[in-house]
Amino acid sequence: MPIATTDPATGEVLRTYDEMPPDRIDAAIAAAHRAFAELRGTSVAQRARWLTAAADLLDAERDDIARVMTTEMGKTYAAAKAEAAKCAAACRFYADNAERFLADEPADAAAVGARRAVVRYQPIGPVLAVMPWNFPLWQVIRFAAPALTAGNTGLLKHASNVPQTALWLGELFGRAGFPEGAFTALLVGSSAVERILTDPRVRAATLTGSEPAGRSIAAIAGRELKKTVLELGGSDPFVVMPSADLDRAAEVATTARCQNNGQSCIAAKRFIVHADVFDAFTERFVDRMAALRVGDPMDERTDVGPLASERGRNEVAAQVRDAAERGARVLCGGEVPDRPGWWYPPTVVTDLTPEMRMWGEEVFGPAAGLYRVSSYDEAVEVANGTSFGLGANAWTRDPEEQERFATDLDAGSVFVNGMTTSYPQLPFGGVRNSGYGRELSALGMREFCNVKTVWVG
Ligand code: NDP
Repeated sequence: MPIATTDPATGEVLRTYDEMPPDRIDAAIAAAHRAFAELRGTSVAQRARWLTAAADLLDAERDDIARVMTTEMGKTYAAAKAEAAKCAAACRFYADNAERFLADEPADAAAVGARRAVVRYQPIGPVLAVMPWNFPLWQVIRFAAPALTAGNTGLLKHASNVPQTALWLGELFGRAGFPEGAFTALLVGSSAVERILTDPRVRAATLTGSEPAGRSIAAIAGRELKKTVLELGGSDPFVVMPSADLDRAAEVATTARCQNNGQSCIAAKRFIVHADVFDAFTERFVDRMAALRVGDPMDERTDVGPLASERGRNEVAAQVRDAAERGARVLCGGEVPDRPGWWYPPTVVTDLTPEMRMWGEEVFGPAAGLYRVSSYDEAVEVANGTSFGLGANAWTRDPEEQERFATDLDAGSVFVNGMTTSYPQLPFGGVRNSGYGRELSALGMREFCNVKTVWVG
């Protein structure tokens, strides 16, 4: 894929970039290695002050970087501004909590025959971050804020369609005060990843992206015995039971499917509805989906903008077409509009069967699959019936069902009666083919730490 900014609303290529040559990649790795030696010697309090300065820059430049994001990948300007604000808040969360998360943890010294025994969290070195375009600031910040504050350095290989956002991020932490080389954007394609990851100075990798990319990076890192955190795709279930507040569920279902123009790993993608309320929920949901305003992502009144790439849009269209050709019913949307740019309308498809692509694949666009089930057990079976396990959503006012869903849904998070989302305070990640490891919270900060046992006799 060429490294370029292409406006998804028009399909126009606005700016292209040359890939960084190997000698500049090596220089960036060397700088990250040197910066690590310096950064690990600074106090957590100092690093937290730099992170607060990064938060101030995110706030001050919010509108400008939001415009860049909207131009590069099509999310609405309102959503882009909210993303930048969320990044600033996450930086402040880690600035406020880093000392606590990284403090020595005393263990029972007497039980291990020591005078003193503690667990100490120490940084491990330069980490390669391979990141996607869908939340081009947030995905990067949620890795970088805890990792740099823990004393690691970062090398960013961002998605090839968001180079301007990548370059802005590549300068952010240096401008905030972190040592030169502590965080660098490498404008490279995915074929450069192996070379970077096999460099002995690079100690670990984190990826948010597709399953094939995850398998490739995990294979290289496995050979090199390097730690990875993988946040891959999902096909999150959204279960609606008879006791649910149907109006609220339908409202959240619409937002959960179409947020970020349908391109979120934790978007609800499969709507699994009990037969007793299937028709009532479907009517509410389809009405809301069909009423969403699709249009210019810079317009504050727009709900859904274009998809980020032609390939992505064509993939969603092919998945819906495949279902329709095999007998599914399209209740709204489903037609690619005849206009420049990569548009796809909010779509609801029902009567899905396992041989259809939409049943088992992730749909990365605003197309929802609707499933009718007749019992709690069947709801859980369908919900757990894909290879993914990122987030899950259940709607029920029955306290016993709430507890059962929380336990029975195979996912990294279960949200009951509210939209699945990420918070700096809570761990985020998946099980099964959605990946492994956790981001955010104290756990996210410790993923790239040496958890060191210290025993003093
Ligand atoms: P990719 O996984 O291809 O891209 C994500 C990042 O990984 C990019 O930086 C990309 O670089 C890089 N990459 C891709 N392949 C490799 C590889 N073999 N080795 C190392 N790095 C690699 O996602 P796409 O943009 O192609 O989207 C495809 C699908 O992935 C989506 O439809 C969706 O299902 C899923 N996805 C999930 C996301 C999530 O949030 N979990 C985010 C984005 C995508 P480059 O851009 O240069 O190819």
